[in-house]
This record gives sequence, C-alpha cells and structure tokens, in this order.
Amino acid sequence: MLKIENLHVYYGNIHALKGIDMVVNEGEIVTLIGANGAGKTTTLRAVSNIVEAREGKIEFLGEDITGVKATDIVKKGLIHVPEGRRVFAQMTVMENLELGAYLRKDKDVIKRDLEMVFNMFPRLYERKNQLSGTMSGGEQQMLAIGRGIMSKPKLLILDEPSMGLAPLLVKEIFEIVKKVNSESKITVLLVEQNANMALKIADRAYVIETGKVVMNGLAKDVISDNSVREAYLG
Ligand code: ATP
Repeated sequence: MLKIENLHVYYGNIHALKGIDMVVNEGEIVTLIGANGAGKTTTLRAVSNIVEAREGKIEFLGEDITGVKATDIVKKGLIHVPEGRRVFAQMTVMENLELGAYLRKDKDVIKRDLEMVFNMFPRLYERKNQLSGTMSGGEQQMLAIGRGIMSKPKLLILDEPSMGLAPLLVKEIFEIVKKVNSESKITVLLVEQNANMALKIADRAYVIETGKVVMNGLAKDVISDNSVREAYLG
C-alpha cells in the first residue's frame, strides 16, 4: 500500500532522514519506534509531503506520490493525524467530525461511520455540541482520531496518539487503534514514544536511529529483541 525508498529529508543543513526504506501492506498496523529526534515524525511528514523529500520515492497504492501536493494526497485516502491534537478549537465536536467527512459523498455510510465513532468514543457523543477548544487534552486527542476515521482513510497515519494522556486513556486509545484496524479495515502507520504499547498492537515495526532504519521485523520479534528492550522498552 505504501512504499518508501531511499528517503532523504533535510531541514536546512540538518540531514534528518538518511535513506529510509519502508513498506506498509494493506491491512497492517506498522509502527515506527526510536529515540527523540530519530526522524519518526519527519518520515510521516515526508509521506504526506508536509516536508519535502530531497531524494527518494514514495508510492501509495502503486502510484508515485513523491512531490504530490499534501491536499491531493489526502484526496487519495492517506490521512495524517499529526502530533498535538490539532482540532478546530472554535468549532463544536460535531462540526469537527463532519469536517473530517467533507470530501465524501456517501451520505448513508457517513451516518453509519459517525455512529461508529460515537460508539468508540462515547465521550465525544456526550460532548458533541461543546466547542472543541474547551475539551480536555485527552478528549481533543480522541476527536483528532475520530475526525481522521470520518474521512474514511485507506491509510491512517497517527503521530503520537498517546502523547500527554493519562495511563488509563493511553490503554483505551491503543485499543481503539486496534479496533479501527480490525473492524473498519483501515491500514495504520503509527509513531509512538510508548514503544511497548505500540509493539503490542502492531503487526510489524521499524526501529529508526538518527535518520536510518536499523531494524525491522514482526512486532513480536522486535519486542523480544534484547537491544530494543534495553534501548526503548525500559
Ligand atoms: P520525537 O520522538 O522527539 O518526536 P522524532 O523521531 O519524531 O522525535 P523528528 O521530529 O522527525 O524526530 O526530528 C528528526 C530531526 O530533525 C531532529 O534532529 C530534529 O531536531 C530535526 N528537526 C525536526 N523538525 C525540524 C525543523 N522544523 N527544523 C529544523 N530541524 C528539525
């Protein structure tokens, strides 16, 4: 579904990605793990063309999307939920969710998906008329994910969905990501500081160090690798 080949990204003189190769197959949950500053977020940004790929190729559903405008990538079904709960603060919860579906024309299915999102996140239903900016951090995170689901993505890219959340909510968010994947058949590419949780729900994982993939494999093998355990799993 997604194929990244020899991806290089620079921020000015900083060579942030040094030839990343990565594949996400349809139906999978793939996670990227690595230390702070390793290049995880940059990889996701390059896929959505929020930052420019200096070198390399990105294919989505067999099509070369390197350099394709970010808004056009969204239209192809690749939805990126960035770090830090970007919701439209002056709009209600309901309006944010409707906005997620604005490119869709399948009105009946939209209604069903809205019910599904409310089922996954009962809190959003309770607060559907509340201004999003007044919701708690965890609630805004749920809303950002819910809005992503409402766009009916083929590939959902999630950057640190558990960031800043209380432990109980972290568990809930991961369960929801798993559900989105298994019940809604949405392929997921996930970046997480919480490597333990991410590896538990993922099918496969890539470990990134200073802009390079240093290991990849089945999540169950990566989680039991000694060097990974020492470096990332505490
Ligand atoms: P974290 O887990 O801390 O979010 P990360 O693996 O997602 O880290 P990136 O955010 O991709 O790491 O950053 C990779 C490198 O690029 C870091 O050295 C970072 O300082 C640098 N970098 C990221 N964004 C910019 C920017 N806008 N300008 C300059 N350097 C940047």
